[in-house]
Amino acid sequence: MDDAQRQPYAPRQACRACGNSRGELLFIVSGCPVVRCSQCRLVFLDIVHDAPSIEEMYRQYGCTDETVYFEGINAGVERNIDRFLARCRQYLAAPGPKQRLLDIGCGNGALLKRALQAGFECQGIEISTPLADQARQQTGCPVHTCFLADANLPKGSFDAVTMYDVIEHLQSPRTDLARACALLRPGGVLFLFTPNENALPRKIAKACYRLTAHAVSRPLKVLYYAQHLSYFTRASLSRLLLDSGFDIMGIHMQSYDRSRLRLSLLQQAALYMLQPVLLFCPPVRGKIALWARKR
Ligand SMILES: [Zn+2]
Repeated sequence: MDDAQRQPYAPRQACRACGNSRGELLFIVSGCPVVRCSQCRLVFLDIVHDAPSIEEMYRQYGCTDETVYFEGINAGVERNIDRFLARCRQYLAAPGPKQRLLDIGCGNGALLKRALQAGFECQGIEISTPLADQARQQTGCPVHTCFLADANLPKGSFDAVTMYDVIEHLQSPRTDLARACALLRPGGVLFLFTPNENALPRKIAKACYRLTAHAVSRPLKVLYYAQHLSYFTRASLSRLLLDSGFDIMGIHMQSYDRSRLRLSLLQQAALYMLQPVLLFCPPVRGKIALWARKR
């Protein structure tokens, strides 16, 4: 199925970034259509969620077999987060003596822990009760176990808002970015980290699917799954931030942290072989780190 053959498609779910109701069907993975918006080009799962269905998806997130996964997240966070936070500080206009940071989707508190050590005064938001409990125990920070919309935080009360591997999970990134913008003081900094839809492994997975007349779908199932509702590129993410009241301060394309991918030995070997290529092709790296300042 190449671009010329794709038929116009009316998604059940309006685009999560721009609200447009027209798109093109890219492929169907595990019974769920994956669609690209015809207007802003965001790729998203065409599945309609509400608060109860999202809560159900994350009720026990972080328990049982997720434990190893979250250890992987911590390893990645430990390597990355100090320099990400240092760059947040660099972009903060006229920082006060104690900078207030809100980590949305704080998981088990790995980012909060590093932010505390870096001198931030921190709060977290996490809808998974087991993870929110772990975050409180690890950090002693206030952690709100609710959606951002229900947290009742004062407008303009934070210097920095962070969303580390979170925006792709949101039912409406557009709405939550507007909320994050309202919580920041003027000149406050937003930091986002999310998978890159233009990453080379995704291009290869889609090519395998097309070239085998949909027979090889396993790589797509590894890369597109129920919890990740949106798949951003550098362009679609930048556009959403600009439309949400932010100026882009910096974008860094980063290679995958392989410890977080659940791959077979063969897939790990293939990804390892691709690393030299990825180093010379920043736009096809697996992750986008973006800093933006409230306008
Ligand atoms: Zn759109």
